[in-house]
Amino acid sequence: MSTIPENLQAVQRSIAIAAQNVSRELHEIKLLAVSKTFGPEAVIEAAQAGQQAFGENYLQEALEKMAAVQAAAPDLNLEWHYIGPIQSNKTRAIAEHFDWVHSVDREKIAQRLSEQRPAHLPPLNICLQVNISGEASKSGVTPEQVLQLAKAVVALPHLKLRGLMAIPEPAETFAQQRSPFARLRALREQLCEQGIALDTLSMGMSADMEAAIAEGATIVRIGTAIFGQRDYAK
Ligand SMILES: *Cc1c(COP(=O)(O)O)cnc(C)c1O
Repeated sequence: MSTIPENLQAVQRSIAIAAQNVSRELHEIKLLAVSKTFGPEAVIEAAQAGQQAFGENYLQEALEKMAAVQAAAPDLNLEWHYIGPIQSNKTRAIAEHFDWVHSVDREKIAQRLSEQRPAHLPPLNICLQVNISGEASKSGVTPEQVLQLAKAVVALPHLKLRGLMAIPEPAETFAQQRSPFARLRALREQLCEQGIALDTLSMGMSADMEAAIAEGATIVRIGTAIFGQRDYAK
């Protein structure tokens, strides 16, 4: 079995190759290490290998992990991204403890995050989650509704709208993987034409990272390829 630092290096190499294949600059692409279900020691190991940004889906787990990392390694200056579904009663803790939220898909949630963002912290960076594959069961705003939500978020004082996020349904071929990412990219361009400047496309996971980079991803969210298979029973 390979170690977390080895996996990180391999993922960084894959990102570099994928970027080079489409003549993109490496510094445009940020690696978000998705540490959900893995403990504080895994985060510390990755951080000591140079990884700075970590993504979490489950609030309670994330808060416990952050506290444990802080206690064990107070000098690490990590950036935390919330990427999971958001219930109204969780917004305060998210606003207090995270630097980014990728999964905003309702105006009400955005309002609460803005109201509850502590005044001494910089604005919370926000991506709007878009239901780009049109699956009935998945969260995310529809492409038709994203402009309205974006305008609402831009008006909120303690949020900073950065971009769009999507989790397309799994696809077999590279071309099939690319097509929803291309739609998300086009949606960002449409918003930019409407005067809403966005610098972020959060798209691509372990299985489809290369396709996302080919379509302009600026944040790839990688869990399994760094930390290994998740065991949800633990
Ligand atoms: C779990 C998760 C990831 C990471 O997925 P892997 O396939 O393990 O790389 C990325 N984004 C979101 C929103 C996730 O929930």
